[in-house]
Amino acid sequence: MPGPSHALPDIASLGDVRGRRVFVRSDLNVPLAQSGDGWVITDDGRIRASAPTIAELADAGARVIVASHLGRPKGGFEAKYSLRPVGIRLAEILGAPVAQASDVVGPSAVATVAGLADGEVALLENLRFEPGETTCDDGLSDQLAALCDLYVGDGFGAVHRAHASTTGVPQRRPHAAGNLVLAELDVLTRLTHDPARPYAVVLGGSKVSDKLAVLGNLLTQADQILVGGGMCFTFLAALGYDVGGSLLQADQIDNVRDVLRQAEQRGVDIVLPVDVVAAAEVSADSPTQVVAADLIPADLKGLDIGPLSADLFASKLSDAKTVFWNGPMGVFELAPFAAGTRAIAEAIAGLSGALTVVGGGDSAAAVRLLGIDESRFGHISTGGGASLEYLEGKELPGLTALG
Ligand code: ADP
Ligand code: MG
Repeated sequence: MPGPSHALPDIASLGDVRGRRVFVRSDLNVPLAQSGDGWVITDDGRIRASAPTIAELADAGARVIVASHLGRPKGGFEAKYSLRPVGIRLAEILGAPVAQASDVVGPSAVATVAGLADGEVALLENLRFEPGETTCDDGLSDQLAALCDLYVGDGFGAVHRAHASTTGVPQRRPHAAGNLVLAELDVLTRLTHDPARPYAVVLGGSKVSDKLAVLGNLLTQADQILVGGGMCFTFLAALGYDVGGSLLQADQIDNVRDVLRQAEQRGVDIVLPVDVVAAAEVSADSPTQVVAADLIPADLKGLDIGPLSADLFASKLSDAKTVFWNGPMGVFELAPFAAGTRAIAEAIAGLSGALTVVGGGDSAAAVRLLGIDESRFGHISTGGGASLEYLEGKELPGLTALG
């Protein structure tokens, strides 16, 4: 299990950065929505979280080259995955201009970097417009490294990927971990090393298959695991209940039975919903009803945990000293199915004297979308997959490369 022994070099270890070209791999992969013929950012949390490292380097006189991926383009330029709106927002947050290149390692990137004065910031285009990014191609890694003198890894949401920008460049240049990566690691380390007890985990989201690996590891650490969201229906089915038309991964029932057996052996309390908000369609205007979790009518889908479950979960959480929450309790994007997620978020945010951590892109977005003050949580992770893989005990290549 990774831990404090993996202490990574920080920005200060790079020495004087004045006049040096510093490549900062951030995670600026934010949700966008179409508006007219452009795109608007619907949640800028990752840009705000990335800005301090960029600002610190610029303030120290570095020529800062910021790079990120955005979405899943197919390996060439696609306007809808352009980082242009992100660069505009980054400039607003920094309160300083950001010179935007129209390619990743092409003539525009080379000219933009060459044009930087000390303390100025440039942003490359979406790294995944280069097919060599995700294959960690040597040629692309060489080209990216040629743009810079030093490397700072600060894109926590991408450290579980071995890509050209996360492992290729730091293999070729002196490197350090950025402030965001260090802050994320600091919190995750506290979850895995002697967490204050009781340690409660709340898991939700859509697919149980995405969360089985982390569940397996959390069984050895947590005292309680509360399960909501789409994944709870595979648990309810494993207990022999009818889940109607709810999200069900029938091929995972055996795995879930195994989880339930292990939990019992270890004395870990697995808490499932007792009621659910159900509707015929996943739609904001489909009439809803609250039904018992062990008897969901065949023509209805469970789309949120019900009010009794929200109370049950909140009471289970009330004495927790450590909480990790990943995955919304329902289809929070639609108002009729948001109450469960809101109740759990409020219950966690209201805990005093506990370390509370939110991991997962949609969970973090839910907190902000529901208007819950982010500062009421101990930490909101910018990396969904990365934080889950850390908690699974996996090695994260983007961190190993910074060591
Ligand atoms: P995170 O990004 O926080 O890790 P996931 O990606 O696992 O979370 O899951 C988020 C998605 O799960 C949301 O889009 C939400 O609508 C969906 N979801 C939650 N509950 C249900 C449910 N009961 N049925 C279907 N989808 C659900
Ligand atoms: Mg998600």
